[in-house]
Amino acid sequence: MDFPGFSLDVSALQSDGGPNPDEIYDVLVIGGGPAAMTAAVYAARKMLKLALLTKDFGGQVMDTSDIENYMGFQTITGEELAKKFQEQIRHFEVPFRKDDGVLSVTQDGDLFLVRTENDVVFRGKTVILATGKRSRPLNVPGEREFTGKGVAYCATCDAPFYAGKDVVVAGGANSALTAAMDLLKAQATHVTLVNFIEGWQADEVLMASVRDDQRLNLLDFHEVVRIEGKDRVEAVRVRNRKTGEETVIRTNGIFVEIGLLPNSEPVAELAQVNDVREVLVDCHCATNVPGLFAAGDVTTVPYKQIVISAGEGAKAALAAYDYLAQKGNL
Ligand SMILES: Cc1cc2nc3c(=O)[nH]c(=O)nc-3n(C[C@H](O)[C@H](O)[C@H](O)COP(=O)(O)OP(=O)(O)OC[C@H]3O[C@@H](n4cnc5c(N)ncnc54)[C@H](O)[C@@H]3O)c2cc1C
Repeated sequence: MDFPGFSLDVSALQSDGGPNPDEIYDVLVIGGGPAAMTAAVYAARKMLKLALLTKDFGGQVMDTSDIENYMGFQTITGEELAKKFQEQIRHFEVPFRKDDGVLSVTQDGDLFLVRTENDVVFRGKTVILATGKRSRPLNVPGEREFTGKGVAYCATCDAPFYAGKDVVVAGGANSALTAAMDLLKAQATHVTLVNFIEGWQADEVLMASVRDDQRLNLLDFHEVVRIEGKDRVEAVRVRNRKTGEETVIRTNGIFVEIGLLPNSEPVAELAQVNDVREVLVDCHCATNVPGLFAAGDVTTVPYKQIVISAGEGAKAALAAYDYLAQKGNL
């Protein structure tokens, strides 16, 4: 995904040397969002030998403009809050490895083996999976080709680039309506909302805030069938699901806002997941595999919010500590 202007400086986070594949860690925390960073702080305060393995720092918080529901801050931007989290874990000199996602978590006797995309294997007595969620793709021709060239997944990040331009937003729930609002605020010329099903699933308060805007075009019961262009997006082809008629909408871009998918792939072979692939956890963040814990948006815990992910990350670290203590394995 293309998030210009929203990179978090993690240079200050770099501790001396990253995690060492020759070590055996008490806990390997996977992820770099609120759940993982909070888990790392709690694990460090319990003096556990830990390492953090992540693709990036901040997670979805970096996609959020203003946050008004994280206690202690009346309003804070996502970028600022992610920096605060970063400062918090800097104190504890947590060894971390960034830009190298985790591919798989397997078991070897009493240990977990955590393999990264660069084929480095780390060993841990416990694992906390806190890999969150990612945008669900449309899976239509042209989407992958034009990602970052007019296909976008984060209105908070990219809406300002569409001032004076025409945009399509795919989706019909709160995230799509919020994206439409962001684009209208950013002075997009026209915004066309395309929803797969009939009607709109967004909260009425969001619908009311945009419905009368003359720049907004609402198209429900339509599906996006193709994204077209030469070097960048130039058009989006949609099909009326009642009549089958296809229409080409000339546009400078399309924002895909059709929901999120859990990043549970690393434990897909190991842990139980529900029908939407969220990792099943109990109230102690324990999965069905002893020693494997999960926290935040990647799990079945309801209400995906920063404060909830942070709380679940704290619980997962304390639960991992208790697990090791009960086994006499500290
Ligand atoms: C646009 C938007 C606005 C939002 N606004 C709010 C709001 O105002 N208030 C609120 O409370 N919540 C809001 N949320 C929800 C909130 O951001 C999430 O609930 C929260 O960030 C989840 O935290 P997490 O740590 O569980 O996962 P994430 O934030 O998704 O973090 C997951 C981390 O894991 C890393 N990762 C993923 N896969 C791998 C892998 N295989 N290996 C290693 N690392 C991996 C990712 O790079 C990332 O660092 C918003 C979300 C979005 C998208």
